[in-house]
Amino acid sequence: MTVAPSSTPRVDVLGVPVARLTFERLLRQLDEALRAQKSGGRPEYYTYVNAYCATLAAREAPYRAAVADADVVYADGIGVVWATRLLGGPCPERINVGPIELGKIVDLCAERGASVFLLGGAPGIADEVARRLAAERPGLRIAGVHHGYFAPEEEAEVVRKINDSGAALLIVGLGPPKQEQWVSRHLPTLRVHAAWCMGGLLDQVAGAVAYPPEWVRRHHVQWLYRLVVEPRRLWRRYLLGIPEFLGRVALQRLRLERQA
Ligand code: UDP
Repeated sequence: MTVAPSSTPRVDVLGVPVARLTFERLLRQLDEALRAQKSGGRPEYYTYVNAYCATLAAREAPYRAAVADADVVYADGIGVVWATRLLGGPCPERINVGPIELGKIVDLCAERGASVFLLGGAPGIADEVARRLAAERPGLRIAGVHHGYFAPEEEAEVVRKINDSGAALLIVGLGPPKQEQWVSRHLPTLRVHAAWCMGGLLDQVAGAVAYPPEWVRRHHVQWLYRLVVEPRRLWRRYLLGIPEFLGRVALQRLRLERQA
């Protein structure tokens, strides 16, 4: 559901156009999308980048294109916020969508009478998130759920299920790069008002993976916390990815200085 073209300024970080906006501004943009009349336009599409995602985007063109296709790509990591400062277009804040922010998003949906579809996670995860969200918010309508481990030949059926559900907001938790490539590929046929990529948040809200305490978020060491909780899955991402990110940003900055 395309709303008026966004006037949000953007800054290029390793080829990704990062939007310089606050979470409150993004919520207002979602609100506009939820209230817009359905006229066959493509849904709004929001996703995020942190140091890992930006490095992946620099390396993998299909993922970079799928991220760049989003209406809003927000800075989900403090590393990306620092990079935007270094690259001449500072983001006003880091936007990390955790359980509290998800609560605000679904509260807005409940207020607007907009139903939500949850896609992603192992079988049972999205069901548990739906149960927890609905239990806390009697006004919220969960239009449907689907796990994130479907085969390519099942994709059309998943899209049909989402469209038939009448959901206004599609929350996608397939993890990068899969979630962005999936959303970008199906955006023309999805009839939701907005699709929002949220990575592993569904696992955390379902209670399958521990969510970092507030002080961890406040001190921007969420990556370290996640590394301790899931070392086998995440060591490569952080221990190799962060130095690569810093190196690539430094190179981009040098190129900018040379051009000036
Ligand atoms: N996932 C999925 N289908 C897949 C691969 C991953 O649903 O084919 C889910 C996985 O179960 C987990 C999430 O995607 O819930 C992984 O997100 P990740 O932690 O990598 O994203 P982040 O939050 O770090 O960006």
